[in-house]
Amino acid sequence: MIIAFDFDGTLVDSYSPIEEAFRRALEVRCRWLPGKGLWAKFLTKIELQFERPTFGGHKGIHKPPFFLRTKFFETWFEERARLTKPLDDAPELLRKLKEEGHTVISFSAEDFIEGMKVKRLKMAGLYDLFDDVIVFGRAMTLDDAFRLVREKYGNETLIWVDDKPWRFIGRGDENTEYVWYYFPFTAKFVEKNREKLALIPHLHVIRDLWSLFDVIARVGMRY
Ligand SMILES: [Mg+2]
Repeated sequence: MIIAFDFDGTLVDSYSPIEEAFRRALEVRCRWLPGKGLWAKFLTKIELQFERPTFGGHKGIHKPPFFLRTKFFETWFEERARLTKPLDDAPELLRKLKEEGHTVISFSAEDFIEGMKVKRLKMAGLYDLFDDVIVFGRAMTLDDAFRLVREKYGNETLIWVDDKPWRFIGRGDENTEYVWYYFPFTAKFVEKNREKLALIPHLHVIRDLWSLFDVIARVGMRY
């Protein structure tokens, strides 16, 4: 099978360090600024606005506002990457899946700064564990990225793992199994719109990445 993984909140916890990364970035880039702790809290609130769901929205390619593409945010991403930790021993999981003959793909959205996602995948030590790394949202839309996966790897069952299930709505195809990795930090955005999840066929919910093996077994029996 083809197994496609989102990155933030799915393979790594890059959410807990958001505020601390802002504090450090302010330390590096704005030494003169008083009240860095408060600024870090304020910036965290703004950043989290970008994590909110767009249910059923088909956002195409978008360029983030200029202030998110500054040296300051570059430093913030790097500090965030340094503080990021893998979830559920993700590297070992990716190795196991490949051992079992699956095609393992990184399938996630670009950060505010171009090239940053790949850089962070490398810093997390995950980049080389994938058969392919596909980044959407800037050079190509999510739908184009999905088509690209099909062109390259054919029509076999694709298991799509993401902590933001609203991304699944209206996407994929009949050979796609959707796996919502329940990550508390982003799951809270879903709670208010739970009924929207009914729009996703073949939806599986896991709270531990290793439960993917149960999903694979179940899906394998069905096909
Ligand atoms: Mg995510």
